[in-house]
Amino acid sequence: MEPIRIGILGYGNLGRGVELACAANEDMQLMAVFTRRNPESLTLLTPGAAVVAAAELEQWTDKVDVLVLAGGSATDLPQQTPEAVRLFNVVDSFDTHANIPQHFAAVDAAAKETGHIGVISVGWDPGMFSVARLYANAILSGGADYTFWGRGVSQGHSDAIRRIPGVADARQYTVPVPAALEAVRAGKNPQLTTREKHTRECYVVAEEDADTDAIREAIVTMPNYFADYDTTVTFISQEELNRDHAGIPHGGSVIRTGTTGQNGENTHVIEYSLKLDSNPEFTGSVLVAVARAAKRLADAGETGCRTIFDIAPALLAPQTPDYLRAHML
Ligand code: NAP
Repeated sequence: MEPIRIGILGYGNLGRGVELACAANEDMQLMAVFTRRNPESLTLLTPGAAVVAAAELEQWTDKVDVLVLAGGSATDLPQQTPEAVRLFNVVDSFDTHANIPQHFAAVDAAAKETGHIGVISVGWDPGMFSVARLYANAILSGGADYTFWGRGVSQGHSDAIRRIPGVADARQYTVPVPAALEAVRAGKNPQLTTREKHTRECYVVAEEDADTDAIREAIVTMPNYFADYDTTVTFISQEELNRDHAGIPHGGSVIRTGTTGQNGENTHVIEYSLKLDSNPEFTGSVLVAVARAAKRLADAGETGCRTIFDIAPALLAPQTPDYLRAHML
């Protein structure tokens, strides 16, 4: 079997995660990483793969089967994915939930026009958590949904703290409230406010002579980000931050509870949970499994945009359908 030839556009945390996932899968071959920066400034982990300027993407259309987009959701992907799907079959991890319908429409139009497949919003949320929500809702039609995130680093909240005057660096952890998780898992169906579901832990490096009381106040009162949560702020040195908070862990649980029986006397709890040491390496692994599915859909002549909801599970696996039926069903 010829390996599936992968390209990666964008070489940040997620780009490296995709690269590692390619190395871990025998049916994948990383051909090139494309970057908007000077290609000479990047050193890849994969021997033999090229580093190429993003402006030269067009020259690689016959050397790459699936291009995995690893740019940021805020400004990169809304532009990059609809452009790239004109040249390649693509997979992205677009995670601005509210804008997914708009992103889908843009990618779908370009993919159909050029005869490619584009799978968007793949990862864990959106991604594996979305699948867990869909399965649980289809099975327990009368019920309640809960999603808890963490314990994990929120890049967006860490960035928001870094923008406060006097802050040199920061790391923010989102943490589920244990009592809330317990009540949901027990099938008690609690009504939970934002504050009752998650707390926020902030580790902050202050600049020399900065007013730490003012920084603390600016954090805990910040609308949308922290004001609705019980937030703790701990000041630490840059050395401590680098030593103790360098990782990018994340995870969480999608839970649906519901009842069956004539009088709703039987309670059921469905839970899908992730504990990730490295958010980008896990997300990269999902993207690569979906790249395999994208190649199979393209080989079958399909075109247009898809999400994880449209991908049959067997398309993700490297094993044959016979093997899956014999060993995993
Ligand atoms: P990141 O490290 O900030 O990288 C984003 C892009 O920034 C890179 O592709 C890179 O593109 C560019 N960049 C510019 N200067 C850089 C530098 N000095 N070092 C590294 N990159 C640089 O972001 P990320 O952590 O990889 O996350 C990317 C996106 O993945 C996030 O925006 C998020 O939306 C998404 N995500 C989704 C899920 C999910 O579950 N669906 C989970 C995790 C992440 P160039 O190489 O072209 O410069």
